[in-house]
Amino acid sequence: MKIFINFDSINEKLKTISFTNDKICGININPLDFPFAEIIDLKRKFLSCGFIDSHTHFLHSALEKSYTNLNSAKNNKDIIELMKKSTKNIGYGYDSSSWLKEPNKDVLNEISKTEPIFIIKKDYHSGIANDTAIKKIKIPKELQNPETQNGIFKGRAFISFSRIISSQFTESDREEAFFREEKIAFSKGVTTIHALEGGDGWGYEDIEFMIKKEKDKNNCHLNVILYPQIVNINWVKERNLKRIGGCLLLDGSFGSRTASLLEPYSDGPQKTGELYFSDRALMSFIERSHKLNLQTAFHAIGDRATKQLADIYDKVLTKYPSKNSRHRIEHCELATDETLEKLSKNNIQVSVQPIFEYFWGENMYRKRLGNRITNRYKDMLKLGLNLAGGSDFNVTEINPILGIYSAVNHPTPTHRISIKEAYDMFTKNASFLSYDENNIGSIDIGKNADFVILSENPLKVGKSKIKDIKVIATYRNGELVY
Ligand SMILES: [Zn+2]
Ligand SMILES: [Zn+2]
Repeated sequence: MKIFINFDSINEKLKTISFTNDKICGININPLDFPFAEIIDLKRKFLSCGFIDSHTHFLHSALEKSYTNLNSAKNNKDIIELMKKSTKNIGYGYDSSSWLKEPNKDVLNEISKTEPIFIIKKDYHSGIANDTAIKKIKIPKELQNPETQNGIFKGRAFISFSRIISSQFTESDREEAFFREEKIAFSKGVTTIHALEGGDGWGYEDIEFMIKKEKDKNNCHLNVILYPQIVNINWVKERNLKRIGGCLLLDGSFGSRTASLLEPYSDGPQKTGELYFSDRALMSFIERSHKLNLQTAFHAIGDRATKQLADIYDKVLTKYPSKNSRHRIEHCELATDETLEKLSKNNIQVSVQPIFEYFWGENMYRKRLGNRITNRYKDMLKLGLNLAGGSDFNVTEINPILGIYSAVNHPTPTHRISIKEAYDMFTKNASFLSYDENNIGSIDIGKNADFVILSENPLKVGKSKIKDIKVIATYRNGELVY
């Protein structure tokens, strides 16, 4: 048994905590009663339960980091050089939009004529393959055209392209990427992730891999909660999974002006983005999932998309009322009062990324949206909505401390929330999102012995200094992992 003593925590009444193996077994016990226990003096540092990141594309992003980085390429010659230097046959991150000549298969054939070579553009919406790779990609007849013959894959042809890339990875590539990223997550104090993985375009291999990781609870690895991002309900039920969805896209993003808006973009007067699902298709998918007791989750950013989802959840839950269904909305960045009220009425769980406000709130969002207020946390909390925090890794890196800082220092002063409220987003509230409130999310007897020790008490350090707090140590299932 181990006993933590001499610490600060969110709950001031907490004086000692004891844990054995993987569970918390005592609170405020007298260490003198347990002469054989290992006493750990935390010297007034801040002790918290492990953080939860409720929105990551964990494995996908980890694998992406193993591609050859093509960010610095300025022309086709650079692509050839960077790819030749690397041992990997997949490159990612070139931006050829302003180049004199866009790359095609001839460029990649110069890298290798025998090995398949793939490169993916920075926006992740198109890619190039060499002749050997083209042979591997089974493009449906109706999608074959002069572009694909030239090795250029866009739109629906890019889906076949992505599938082949995903299938290039072996089990050991996935293991390696997972463990590399797990270490980083621990170093940020995260012990549980919601992993939104795979996709009808990307393939099912990542999902199969993460099913194994999710089952693997009795060790000191990251606690994985899987959301398969597919619409194949039968596949999910056959495997006895309890959730479906993730970033199943109802619309796009503000950055590319594809988030679906009720009023046009401020810097694109004709544009309102578009909805990717018809009401009918979405309704039938949610209705079927709900009746099968699956928790669903969808990406909705613009106020037209958040309205579409709130309306359909409302219809389904009015037709089939349920006290404890916790369907999710991901992002929910722009929403009308009516939408928020409907979400609240139906107990819809809101998975938010306050860090987006830190990066884009004051500049890009203002340009695109004028004075429309994004991420109205204060209004959401007033309506009783449960807000859980995440990073959308690798849109941003996993970093709950920066997430807490961003929510507390929201660019719109009326939507700044308290430190305690922001802390709850990455602990208690996030545990509720996945029905795990009895296992994680706070320090209580019987819960996982997952802890993080911070250099400073976020409640006392001052709002502007929260982001400088350091993670000193992380415990997962009672074991020191960072
Ligand atoms: Zn998303
Ligand atoms: Zn996402």
